[in-house]
Amino acid sequence: MMPSVYIKTYGCQMNERDSEAVAAQLVAKGYTLASSEAVADVILLNTCSVRDAAEQKAIGKMQTLAAEMRRTRPEVVLGFLGCMAQSRGQQLIDKLPDVDLVVGTQKFHRTADYLDDIFAGKRTKVVDVGEEQGSEAAIREHILNGNTAESPVTAFVSIMQGCNQYCTFCIVPYTRGGERSRTIPDIVAECRELAARGVREITLLGQIVTSYGKRDIPVRDGKSGFVQLLEAVHEIEGVERIRFTSPHPKGYGDDLVEAYARLPKLVESAHLPVQSGSDRLLKLMHRGYTRERFLGIIEKLRRVRPEMGITTDIIVVLPGETELDFEETLSLAREVEFDNAYIFKYSPRKDTPAAAMPGQVAQAAKEERNARLLALINEIGARHYEKCVGRQEQILVEGPSKKNPARMMGRTRNNKIVVFEGSGRHRGQIMDVKIKRAGSFTLYGDPAILNVD
Ligand code: SAM
Repeated sequence: MMPSVYIKTYGCQMNERDSEAVAAQLVAKGYTLASSEAVADVILLNTCSVRDAAEQKAIGKMQTLAAEMRRTRPEVVLGFLGCMAQSRGQQLIDKLPDVDLVVGTQKFHRTADYLDDIFAGKRTKVVDVGEEQGSEAAIREHILNGNTAESPVTAFVSIMQGCNQYCTFCIVPYTRGGERSRTIPDIVAECRELAARGVREITLLGQIVTSYGKRDIPVRDGKSGFVQLLEAVHEIEGVERIRFTSPHPKGYGDDLVEAYARLPKLVESAHLPVQSGSDRLLKLMHRGYTRERFLGIIEKLRRVRPEMGITTDIIVVLPGETELDFEETLSLAREVEFDNAYIFKYSPRKDTPAAAMPGQVAQAAKEERNARLLALINEIGARHYEKCVGRQEQILVEGPSKKNPARMMGRTRNNKIVVFEGSGRHRGQIMDVKIKRAGSFTLYGDPAILNVD
């Protein structure tokens, strides 16, 4: 019997996607997927480095696993994948000698070969954090169960790897390398295959997804490579909705704004990381836009799609951020009226310029600003969700609700979760529901007027 593998993922959707591709590559080689760590022959932690807390979580988890496995099942193979594996490499094995495998961000697709080597006794430890040309095209396999009741309705498609922005706070350009994009035909082939297996909504993924194809695909009729890709995916029969994450405000040129007016499958939802409302801080962060430019983008998007759902990422507290800077962030949040915002407590990262900047802020101050911003985001969010009550919303039904599997859940075009009393036959349907009630970042639809098409 081939060994079974359990992969635990930390961090962003790109990491989720990388794990899924590794799992699918392993299955293709005959490995099985274990239902839990307790029964797995291989346990892999796919790691995140964006904040220290995420790294410490994965290290702590591995320490616990190593101690337990040494006692009960010493033959189990333990490995780190992804961003922290990339930035720490061999150090991880020096610190945790029970770890057998360390695979960096350009080597995910080698995981299966390395496990084969370990099981065949050819190697005992493997560390591979090298660069590899073409690795951006190696994240393409999906775990799909054919066109069955269990096959997913939504899927992520990784269109590029790496980042060239070098924000002063961010470790990603160092862990993921420079921007490398797949070709349009390659991505379209993957999306077609997904649509043929029953996927109806595709989310295109990249660290700065709007920078797709910048160096390789010439602008055509004023359209960037990213907009050309959106058009190509829009053509695919069976794909009903297109999303993408995460973009950078600099990517919202007129061609992209105009694409929203032209491409009905491109849903009215934008996750636009702003990080701060203060021009002084935006400059310190090396973000490449001002508050005014950011507000201008929001205005243009809302002009073409008034129902546009807008979410963001905000960092509290960058070194040197004053109370005045922070108040500018609060006022920006009020002005834009974000549907929701992910607030990140600043974490100094190895080799990033911000880690050496003067004015590092104590944890207590971060907690205080975090709480104030969160209260405001929740208040604005609650207003947004409350406004939906009484409306008819189009949702794509994804499956049972995570919190209460007796109910079904779907998403509105502008990315709000709707829970309703439905059944398995609604899975994959695009339908209208009447919103009866709003909870915390969740809407509840009325089953009485379900209108299945
Ligand atoms: N496209 C995104 C953008 O425009 O910034 C990049 C995605 S980034 C990897 C995800 C989020 O992580 C960022 O938006 C930022 O808020 C957060 N982040 C990055 N570095 C961080 C740090 N050192 N401390 C806290 N949060 C951080």
